[in-house]
Amino acid sequence: MSGHDIATPKRTKEIIAKYGFSFKKSLGQNFLIDQNILNKIVAAAELDKSKGALEIGPGIGALTQRLAAEAGTVTAVEIDNRLIPILEEVLADQAHTTVVHGDVLKLDLKQLFADRFKDVSGVSVVANLPYYVTTPILMKLLEEKLPLEYIVVMIQKEVAERMAAKPGGKEYGSLSVAVQYYCVPQLVCIVPHTVFIPQPNVDSAVIKLSLRDKPAVDVPDEAFFFRVVQACFAQRRKTLANNLTAFVGKERREELSAVLASCDIDPIRRGETLSLDEFAKISIALMEAGMGR
Ligand code: SAM
Repeated sequence: MSGHDIATPKRTKEIIAKYGFSFKKSLGQNFLIDQNILNKIVAAAELDKSKGALEIGPGIGALTQRLAAEAGTVTAVEIDNRLIPILEEVLADQAHTTVVHGDVLKLDLKQLFADRFKDVSGVSVVANLPYYVTTPILMKLLEEKLPLEYIVVMIQKEVAERMAAKPGGKEYGSLSVAVQYYCVPQLVCIVPHTVFIPQPNVDSAVIKLSLRDKPAVDVPDEAFFFRVVQACFAQRRKTLANNLTAFVGKERREELSAVLASCDIDPIRRGETLSLDEFAKISIALMEAGMGR
């Protein structure tokens, strides 16, 4: 396989020249040209021939080739039709690998899973994501509650740090809570911008999200829980009391103090100090008090 690996500067440039391909910045096209980083991504995904892999944005197929070597079934979704003939050539001898032309944000992923992954023992998403849509893609994967084992993705370093952040720091916010509600995050490695063609302006990181069997906290109404989290982070410099007053209405400010007291939470704290358990406690108490609905 390694003789044909395309994740080298030389092979990538050859393929691009052969097809007259020009990069579209608007589609987040930064292709990986480093074998070592690919090894780390693929190792983190813990694939074997009984498993399926979904790749989002295969580009010219650098990672897809490696997934095809490790997994039993691979499906790669690529939005740019100019890349489809390149992928067909690069993946020509990989019968268990399918390229789907489409926008992952518009695809019916439940249907795709039913069609493509019915015979596998587990599915992971493994991708070097287009950075302009990282969060919408990840939130779609998580909110649709797809039966996933891991999500191993290369994303912007700063976004990876926010996803993995613990309470108390400035990186911790509603994205950290949303990701940690569904997954256990682990930073795999930091990746310099020099391992891509063309080079992005930012550094990247590989993050591994291990999907939980059930969410980190038990809340009766998920949508309401996330609205409360958003409200607590609405203005980061404001206290919980102030942010939540905007959420429940000024006229219920006193009741709000009582609710926070019943949760044993100091109203002068800020959202960034709250654990998932504390967010859950507040959301349940507000709901029981019929506030903020
Ligand atoms: N996997 C390749 C690699 O590692 O070299 C390419 C990664 S590049 C960062 C992101 C890829 O995602 C590009 O091929 C781009 O065309 C594709 N892409 C961008 N938006 C997409 C979308 N909404 N749905 C599917 N693919 C998309």
